[in-house]
Formats: sequence, structure tokens, C-alpha cells
Amino acid sequence: MNTPKHPDLGAALEHSRSGLRDNHRRTLARLLFFVTGSALVVFAVLQFFNGFPWVSAIELLASGLLFFGAQRLKTTPHLQQWIYAYLVAIFSFFIVIMLLPDASIAAFVWVLMMPVLAYLLLGKCEGMILSVPFMVVGLVVYYFFLETVGTAHGMIDLLNMVLCGVLMQVFMHMYEERREEAEQRLVDMAQTDALTGLANRANFQSTLARTIAECERNGSGFALVVMDIDHFKLVNDTLGHDAGDHVLRNIGQCLSERLRTTDSVGRLGGEEFGLILRDVKPADAFELMDELRERIAGRELRYGEAGIRVTASFGIAQWPDHGQDAETLFCVADRCLYTGKRAGRNRVAPAGPVHRDRSEKAVAGGTV
Ligand code: GH3
Ligand code: MG
Ligand code: MG
Repeated sequence: MNTPKHPDLGAALEHSRSGLRDNHRRTLARLLFFVTGSALVVFAVLQFFNGFPWVSAIELLASGLLFFGAQRLKTTPHLQQWIYAYLVAIFSFFIVIMLLPDASIAAFVWVLMMPVLAYLLLGKCEGMILSVPFMVVGLVVYYFFLETVGTAHGMIDLLNMVLCGVLMQVFMHMYEERREEAEQRLVDMAQTDALTGLANRANFQSTLARTIAECERNGSGFALVVMDIDHFKLVNDTLGHDAGDHVLRNIGQCLSERLRTTDSVGRLGGEEFGLILRDVKPADAFELMDELRERIAGRELRYGEAGIRVTASFGIAQWPDHGQDAETLFCVADRCLYTGKRAGRNRVAPAGPVHRDRSEKAVAGGTV
């Protein structure tokens, strides 16, 4: 099987604490560190000529820290902590420059940057939690800065700022909510097979890779099953493509109903399905699949006036006995499947010792 181009999109998004995936946030945070660091160098030079060498020194120190941070952000596993440190520091800095005795009224525009930065870097929930208190403090400082709030002119100044701040917060929240939803929908679409609603091939491969990694860590095992509907082309040829689709949807449903919550199922393509059975011994995997085989073979699907009966063949490979990596396991399960097909179809073919107790249709395990 080929390695998917975008491995495990869904998991990447789930593990990210903001709506953006971590690699995007990393790039964005590095850019912000770099831009803020460069701006501070310029301000440091201006403050020096303005007669405030100590302010200049502090700004130079901060810019050095930011450049160091931009470097560290390339690889650090503590991305979230770096982002919080940056946001808290820069928001506090915005408040401090508003509190300076000679603060320019222009300094207050930075309050409006708070929700933008917080939502971009932290996502909807944490962005709101961090930006709202700082916004409130910023607006309170502005209120005291105005002094002339009692006058109509003062009220206009205050309202301009408060309204703009509140709208900025609300719009950023709405935008981030819609963006996260849209991204999640895209990820779901990219991972789901449209016909059956099961995991698609790329998603199934990611689950398999994750399962192998987990089993390597905790020492448990699993079985990989490849299942293919027998003579499926006949259904299409005799009843039409829609009838074939109907069968595929039904089989997909039957597979997911039968499996435990820890197991996984996906449509690998065409009329081929993959199953991952966690923590099963080879004999149990065989029993489970043989039961499924019987269930599929025993039921008649209604399609309009017609009744459709199908059978399926199964190939089973056990991790780690029959392969340590996904590719080898797939090869073994595939070879078993085609051994079953050659032996007459409607078979479960495990790669291992034979279990004939339940079904005479079992295929000799050593045949792969
Ligand atoms: P075998 O027992 O050897 O597996 O025979 P088969 O007929 O099942 O296999 P074959 O590979 O010859 O045919 C598979 C068919 O599945 C051909 C293709 O038209 C059909 N097919 C693939 N994808 C879909 C789909 O999404 N919907 C429908 N209706 N048919 C599909
Ligand atoms: Mg087939
Ligand atoms: Mg096939």
C-alpha cells in the first residue's frame, strides 16, 4: 500500500488545541516572534535617541529573546507554552504602554490586536479565555485615560473604542467558529468513504499505522483482515450499479455493527474492506470472521423486487507474527484472501494454524 500524502489529518487536528494544525501555528508563531523582535529593535533605537537608554536596553533584550524563541519554535515540543508566554507578555506590554504617563492615544489601538492574535494562535476557546480579560483591562485603562468621559466628546471616544473592541471580539469568535467547523468538515470528507460512510483507504492506513505504534508500546496484538465480496461484478451486471451500491452500503453497515468499539473498519476500494481486530488471538479472529462470513452469506438483501445474496472471502494476518509493518501485513492478508478465492470463495483464510472446528470451509492456514 502506498503511504498517504497527508497522514492522519484528523488525528493532527484533534491533537491540536486550536483549530489550526500545529505545523501552521508553529509557522505563524515564528513569523510573529520574528516581526515583533524586529519591531522592537527599531523601537529600541528610537528610544535611545529619545533619551530613554534603559527602555532601549529592555527592548533590545526582549527582541533578543524573541529571536531566540523564533529559532526554538522550529522544533520545540512545548509550542503551546511558548505561545502562551508570548501572548501574555505582549498583551501585558500593550497595557503597560497605555499606562505610561505620556501614553499616546494611538497606543490604545493595540487593544484591538488582542483578539486577532489570541484567536489565530489559540483557537476559539482558549483564544476567548485569554483575550477577554486583557481586552477588559485595556478598555478600563482607556476609560481612565480619557478623563473627559462626562462630556459628549469623551463619550464618543469611549464608545468608538468599546464598540470596536466588542465587535472585533465577536467577529473573531464567529469567524474562528466557522473556520474550525469548515476545516473539520473537510477533514471528515477527506477521511470518509462517501458511499458507505466508513473510513476510506487513507484513513484506514493511518489507523493501522497508529495501531501498530500503540501495540509496539503496550505489547498487545491485533489481526488485520482483508475482505472481498465474491463475484460482485455479477450484481452490477445483472441488477445494475445502483444495486451494487446498495449491497456495498449494506455490507459496510453489517461490518461496523458486528465489530467491537476498539476495532476499526474501512473500505479499501471497490468491493474490498479492511478490518483491524484489537487484542484478539488468531483463533478468536478466525471465529469472529467466520461468524461474519456466515451472517453475510445467510442474509438476503432486498433491492426493489429483487432479493440479493452475496458471499465474501476473508484473509487474516496477525501482528506481529505475520508481519511487523503495515505493508507486510497487507501482503499476507491479501495472499490469504486470494488463497480463499482460489479455494472456492466464501472462505476465511487465516495465515496460521487451521481452525476447522466451526467451518469446513476454513482454508489451510499454512497456504500463504
Ligand atoms: P471476485 O470474487 O474474484 O472478487 O470477483 P468480483 O466480481 O467481486 O471482482 P472483480 O474485481 O472482477 O469486480 C469487482 C467489481 O466491483 C467491478 C466494479 O465495477 C465493481 N465496483 C467497484 N467499485 C464499485 C462501486 O463503488 N459501486 C459499484 N456498484 N460497483 C463497484
Ligand atoms: Mg470481489
Ligand atoms: Mg476486489
